[in-house]
Amino acid sequence: MIPFVDLKAQYRSIKDEIDAAVLGLLESAQFVLGPEVRAFEEAFAPYCGAAHAAAVNSGTSALHLALLAAGVGPGDEVVVPAMTFVATSAAVLYAGARPAFAEVDDRTWTLDPAKLEAAITPRTKAILPVHLHGRCADMDPILEIARARGLPVIEDAAQAHGAEYKGRRAGSMGALGCFSFYPGKNLGAYGEGGAVVTSDAGLDRTVRLLRDWGAEKKYVHTLKGFNYRMEGLQGAILKVKMKHIEAWTEGRRRNGALYDRLLSGAPGILGLPDGGATEPGLRHVYHVYAVRVANRDRVQRALTEAGVSSGIHYPIPVHLQPAYAEFGYKAGDFPVAERLGDEFLSLPMFPELTADQIETASRALRAAVA
Ligand SMILES: *Cc1c(COP(=O)(O)O)cnc(C)c1O
Repeated sequence: MIPFVDLKAQYRSIKDEIDAAVLGLLESAQFVLGPEVRAFEEAFAPYCGAAHAAAVNSGTSALHLALLAAGVGPGDEVVVPAMTFVATSAAVLYAGARPAFAEVDDRTWTLDPAKLEAAITPRTKAILPVHLHGRCADMDPILEIARARGLPVIEDAAQAHGAEYKGRRAGSMGALGCFSFYPGKNLGAYGEGGAVVTSDAGLDRTVRLLRDWGAEKKYVHTLKGFNYRMEGLQGAILKVKMKHIEAWTEGRRRNGALYDRLLSGAPGILGLPDGGATEPGLRHVYHVYAVRVANRDRVQRALTEAGVSSGIHYPIPVHLQPAYAEFGYKAGDFPVAERLGDEFLSLPMFPELTADQIETASRALRAAVA
């Protein structure tokens, strides 16, 4: 069976470095925040093209604190694409605000700037585009609409470490950028982790306070904060992994390009990432390599029978999730997001995937859709 992701292969490739870092951390007993987390932050901020990075205990916490730092609270609305992982809109709920869903674009699969205005109301407090699958949202028109209305943009870059849009890095384009280091993400901890990046020193300071009980100094709480601190162990591991992230990202891009080549023009495949072409200035980092197919569930079963693992990211757009019924959305509200939910099928994607495996998976898919 060709696996969907293979975390063991990556660990084996850096085992000595990781084992030494973990033992060193245990010896140092700096189990929460501490110098290893600080060193990781100092490597991650410039990697994202930002001045500051604050490490937290998950991508969801990163989103929650970014929203709070941007002033989002009860009574506010935050615009969120209808096609994303549920954590994006959950973070809006954590902040006491309401997610206002918006349509995505049929080609980029990210927030559609042309439909964005329709989701903005007098209660809108922020716009939260998602760089879905590692492909940056079309940020220039989104930033322009936000600027005209004085709204902050917070990037959900949980799937987009190192992705670029017109030469700018994911996380550096909005007021704040949020990352996840969940083990399966492009930069994965060995447990939970996240970070908020920003070039605004004031916002960075607020996020740092909020992640650690809002304490200006010990037992003096100037903000109502949280226990969202990154563990020292995760900082030590992520610091090691920063040395390899570019090589892994290039591996994903090489694999994505090979899929593009093997699947372009195949009858029965309704869509490839960016139509199977690379857009100049756009650096897709392929957290997920998704295709669009009709009869997706049948195609997925055929792949399984051919020994090819697959996934769906995501089958149900957030506005149609049972948990969100109270917000009053219905089928037909966002037809593009709904069609993507029906058609998306994610193929095996990780840096260590071999050309042989990609050829096998592509052949199985072409046969299944023919
Ligand atoms: C993974 C993910 C998150 C949440 O990150 P966690 O670290 O799992 O909390 C948020 N948004 C998107 C788009 C994600 O893929």
